[in-house]
Amino acid sequence: MSKTKELACDLCSLPVPPQGPHLVLGDRELVFCCEGCQGIWRMLNQGAAPAPADNKGRSS
Ligand SMILES: [Zn+2]
Repeated sequence: MSKTKELACDLCSLPVPPQGPHLVLGDRELVFCCEGCQGIWRMLNQGAAPAPADNKGRSS
């Protein structure tokens, strides 16, 4: 079974470890090599990424 798919970090393009952090955006799945990259990606893409739980007190 060679089902291992090489994933590249969506931020820095480094190889992503099997348990690397990931983020699901609708039908798209982003993967990151580390929590740091995930955090930075979130910062850069606020609005696109599902807000953690921070979004609650704000009604537009
Ligand atoms: Zn990365």
